[in-house]
Amino acid sequence: MKQVYNFNAGPAALPRQVLEKAKEEFLNFDDTGISIMEHSHRGKHYEAVHEEAKNLLKGLLSIPDDYEVLFLQGGASLQFAMIPMNFMRPDEQPGYILTGSWSEKAVKEASKFGEVKEIISGKAGNYTSIPEVPSLSQDEYSYVHITSNNTIYGTQWPSFEGIEHPFLIADMSSDILSRRIPVNKFGLIYAGAQKNLGPAGVTVVIFRKDVAERANQGIPAILSYETHIKNRSLYNTPPTFSIYLLKLVLEWAKGLGGLEALEKRNEEKAQLIYDAIDESQGFYSGHAAKNSRSLMNITFTLKNQELTKEFLKEAEAQGFYGLAGHRSIGGCRASAYNAVPLEACEALRHFMVNFQKKHE
Ligand code: PMP
Repeated sequence: MKQVYNFNAGPAALPRQVLEKAKEEFLNFDDTGISIMEHSHRGKHYEAVHEEAKNLLKGLLSIPDDYEVLFLQGGASLQFAMIPMNFMRPDEQPGYILTGSWSEKAVKEASKFGEVKEIISGKAGNYTSIPEVPSLSQDEYSYVHITSNNTIYGTQWPSFEGIEHPFLIADMSSDILSRRIPVNKFGLIYAGAQKNLGPAGVTVVIFRKDVAERANQGIPAILSYETHIKNRSLYNTPPTFSIYLLKLVLEWAKGLGGLEALEKRNEEKAQLIYDAIDESQGFYSGHAAKNSRSLMNITFTLKNQELTKEFLKEAEAQGFYGLAGHRSIGGCRASAYNAVPLEACEALRHFMVNFQKKHE
């Protein structure tokens, strides 16, 4: 098989060991003679997978006991709509902090349900950094929404210190499980699985139980958090194969040493690529301000379009996948999620240095 380095932004690289294990069990899950996909979602074999995935996530993220974990469908995009649908009321206003295109999409959906306040936006600065957050009062905002990692622009909240609100919501689609997080600071966290958690098809929602009590009544059952809590994410048929793969990814993460180990590994990986940018004397220029750099999505440009094109062409020919920036902003982006090995980042650094020598 040819050597490739997968820097796709999502769906993204999965750990090799996970794919091997899935392959091994594919036709005969747990010695049952059939695949996990063919088991009933109400049968004991799938039930065990479902509960184990939940427990592993609780353990890895140190999720306190007063929190629920849900496995939903519809991607993070459905959460953009489900959150206001469940939590917006006519006499209250939520606040959104805008740090990139995905926060904009979240605001756009919420605006369909009533008035939304943009607390602060990084748009005027072309989303190069995470803005300073003003103090947030409960009276002013019914909930406050942030995007912890901005997949397209390549910025990330360095920490959540200084942001305080009783009902803080975070879209962690592109950095969940990549570093330690203070779960108890948040009322609700959500993330599509297809970057750090597994394949597309399942969305993880973590929230404090008291938050569910605030939810609006009378909304369609499938869109109500209450329904999914009551039914342990088994109200309707869940994406069983995606959840099974999520479980394998979580076992892999635990085996690596959990979040502390992953965080350290991710810092080392991103540093290799940021070093190539910083040491290039302007040949490569990073999009993110240094204090807001993402460890997950490293975004940069070259001097002009032709050089960028050539960079991407040569990279692809040498087995580097997914380095083109998001179609909305162009440039280059290396997504170094959990499953991307250190060697892939070393190889990319090498490639960047050599490309510069050749084209300077
Ligand atoms: N939020 C963020 C931060 C994302 O990166 C993405 C997808 N790239 C989404 C939301 C939308 O996710 P989905 O495609 O699962 O709806």
